[in-house]
Amino acid sequence: MNDENIAPAKAFLQDTYRAERLSAQELVTEDLRHIWHPATQMKECELYPPLPIVRARGAWLYTADGRRILDIISSWWCNLLGHCHPKISAALSAQAHKLEHVIFAGFTHPLAVELANRLCALLPEGLRYFNFADNGSSAVEIALKMAFQYQMQRGQSGRVRFACLTEGYHGETIGALAVGSMDLYSRLYRPLMTEQLHVTAPDCLRCPCGQKRGQCECQCLRFAKEALAEHGRELAAFIVEPLLQGAAGMRIYPERYLQGLAALCREHDVLLIADEIATGFGRTGAMFACEKAGITPDLMTLSKGMTGGYLPMSVVCTTQEIYEAFYADYGSGKAFMHSHTYAGNPLGCACALAVLDVLEQEQILERSQKMALYLTELMRHTFNEVPYVAETRQIGLICAVELCEDTQSLKAFKPELRLGRLIYQEALERGLLLRNIGDVIYFNPPLNIQKDELDFAAATAKAACEAVFGRLGLI
Ligand SMILES: *Cc1c(COP(=O)(O)O)cnc(C)c1O
Repeated sequence: MNDENIAPAKAFLQDTYRAERLSAQELVTEDLRHIWHPATQMKECELYPPLPIVRARGAWLYTADGRRILDIISSWWCNLLGHCHPKISAALSAQAHKLEHVIFAGFTHPLAVELANRLCALLPEGLRYFNFADNGSSAVEIALKMAFQYQMQRGQSGRVRFACLTEGYHGETIGALAVGSMDLYSRLYRPLMTEQLHVTAPDCLRCPCGQKRGQCECQCLRFAKEALAEHGRELAAFIVEPLLQGAAGMRIYPERYLQGLAALCREHDVLLIADEIATGFGRTGAMFACEKAGITPDLMTLSKGMTGGYLPMSVVCTTQEIYEAFYADYGSGKAFMHSHTYAGNPLGCACALAVLDVLEQEQILERSQKMALYLTELMRHTFNEVPYVAETRQIGLICAVELCEDTQSLKAFKPELRLGRLIYQEALERGLLLRNIGDVIYFNPPLNIQKDELDFAAATAKAACEAVFGRLGLI
């Protein structure tokens, strides 16, 4: 590891922390005494205890009990260029000795200026103002509030709702949940939320219009068309995850749909918010999914991947037109009165700039595009003869395998079986961290993943599927 960078810092430290000397078993026991993990039924931890990780490098995690695990999901999709990337670590360390944080209202700093410039050059033409926050959900809240206030300030006081796609996911805060429509995360909280317009999403595996993936005319756009015709005048904005509904189970839909939706929004004078938190920074093979589809949204949210998974950071990107609707004399009350303590944090900016440098210097996008072709072939021949595979799908290096009890009728396995969860656990025991969403298992690897690592991931995922099928008496 880059011990040169750590060495001077170590001089200030007395010793390792007490917990760093605990065994794996002791760590788990102490963890469960105090820690409430995200999106976890804590009682399940008796069966599936959290796994202590003590270090990481590239795509690999190292456990407290001395095993290594291939992190093929970029630790919840954010670790864009592998763990402990020497260049990002060095940039972070250098900035930590210059300026760690400064209030971002009334102050600025060189790295924020540099980052805004760099983003402006990379983003689809027209996105040129940047409002920083510190996580994805907060960026979504900003985009929604900005869209709403924009409409109010241009005299469109009837535009008080948002449209979104069914199965969409935009984060966990109340406003973001209201424009998400995954029951799992939001049902209980419905009474707290405002009522938004949920439009039937494209679903290329189970097409609501009876079409086949890759052979359609996006007939499903008619749901958006009808919704906008009926409710267009009530809408401030339409929020979408461009090309990929990630949390819905890596549901991939055509560029043509996104282009059609953008045109419909324009036609009805409804703003388009592209939530690129999952798709931004090369995940779909292009720098941004919107770029791939050749559209410029009115607002774009970015977060995961932005700092390479080092620090929480997000940004809302928008246009001159929206910016100008807020630009007025002090007394007008038109300012965007929203702030987060860590907005524009210099350490986050340092990591984000290092990420952009690495993407450029190491030609990561070009390499990842080639690797994506390799992955397509690999998944095809690995899963070719595996039973219960209804579909393998891929965009960029993100790929998913959907398992069904009946691959013809697409009848799902009984949820009580928790097939996907069992495969996740089996793969983990075999040294692979993949993740499941229901019975969809997926990879979302760092963009600089190596061939042999993909080989290992595909072979292990297959072996894990077969082991679980065998245990359940399915083969
Ligand atoms: C992860 C995600 C979010 C939420 O980001 P957090 O940082 O977890 O709050 C929002 N939108 C999309 C598309 C995401 O994938």
